[in-house]
Amino acid sequence: MNGVLRAPTSADGRELQGRVAVVTGGASGMGLAAVHALVRRGATVTVLDLAAPDRFELASRLAVPDDRVRTVAADITDREQVDAAFDALLARRPRLDILVNAAGIAPPTSFEEIGAAEWERVLAVNVHGTFHCCQRALPAMRAGGWGRIVNFSSTAGKTISTAGGAHYTTAKHGVLGLTRHLAKAYGPDGITVNAVCPGLIDTPMARGLLPAEALEEATRSFPVPRVGQPWEVAELVAFLASDRAGYITGAAVDVNGGDLIV
Ligand code: NAD
Repeated sequence: MNGVLRAPTSADGRELQGRVAVVTGGASGMGLAAVHALVRRGATVTVLDLAAPDRFELASRLAVPDDRVRTVAADITDREQVDAAFDALLARRPRLDILVNAAGIAPPTSFEEIGAAEWERVLAVNVHGTFHCCQRALPAMRAGGWGRIVNFSSTAGKTISTAGGAHYTTAKHGVLGLTRHLAKAYGPDGITVNAVCPGLIDTPMARGLLPAEALEEATRSFPVPRVGQPWEVAELVAFLASDRAGYITGAAVDVNGGDLIV
């Protein structure tokens, strides 16, 4: 009976002990919260972001041992920079178990004002960057026979964005397509690929798009009438990255206070 009822690991233990993870966009907001959640469960995490935060400052800010976080500066839209970052990581230790693609941008530009360069940049960060990192991570995961990819889509990937522009909505729909394709292709290799779809979460991105009062106002009609916290998304990311979530793949999981209930 226990074999049926009991999960192989539990959240209170060190269920990601020994796991090696990369978190893009891990210097801020939900990426940073995901770094914290993964390290707390035992993983060693490399933060890949535009500017690399100081590793010792980051570890002290998160109150985690400094040998469990690394940082590398890279623009995920630039394949050469992504290759250099993954080459360095895999040269040190040829193992990668978990990839969290949290880096993203969401300019609020109205449709007719979006220039071609801005359109391309938003697609490049949210979709192409996710593609580059997945493509570099998957061979290492296949070699290890186990892997977890968690991509950041959004409520914008299911309906339309609250504050971001049409390029952002388009990009986050694209992230879901990539997630589903990879889930089907790599399931037999022991690799799951899922997306999280946050609603309005209190991060520098959301605060840059909406003033605090507007953020509160926008969430007042939600079944859970408040702004979400980064850790509430990070808990889901950590679960999806664990053994316990091994039968979940290709999912697009909402964390939005019930915003999409009609
Ligand atoms: P944030 O702005 O706090 O953090 C995003 C991080 O991504 C930053 O550290 C930034 O430097 C990094 N980044 C941006 N462009 C990059 C690039 N080209 N290369 C490397 N790193 C880059 O944002 P957040 O709110 O924590 O958002 C995290 C993810 O969640 C994003 O994909 C975002 O689109 C998505 N999301 C956010 C919300 C929200 O309400 N905050 C809602 C739904 C989805």
